[in-house]
Amino acid sequence: MAKHQFQRDEDGDIDDFAFDVEEPGIGHNGPRCTVCGESICHHCEPKRLDEECPGKWIQPWPKPEARTV
Ligand SMILES: [Zn+2]
Ligand SMILES: [Zn+2]
Repeated sequence: MAKHQFQRDEDGDIDDFAFDVEEPGIGHNGPRCTVCGESICHHCEPKRLDEECPGKWIQPWPKPEARTV
């Protein structure tokens, strides 16, 4: 099994703001896998950044288009 293939920014670095969620008093952001769609908060779940990717799209929401900056 391969690891998550995280979305990269234009410099080729993992995009830590591929998802960005605001909640009252706390914010979550982190990379999103381009294979399975899993988004992992690098504040709350840093250990999951290194986990294995299921290899297919698992998220209920539509696949996001590539971000253009
Ligand atoms: Zn993945
Ligand atoms: Zn978080």
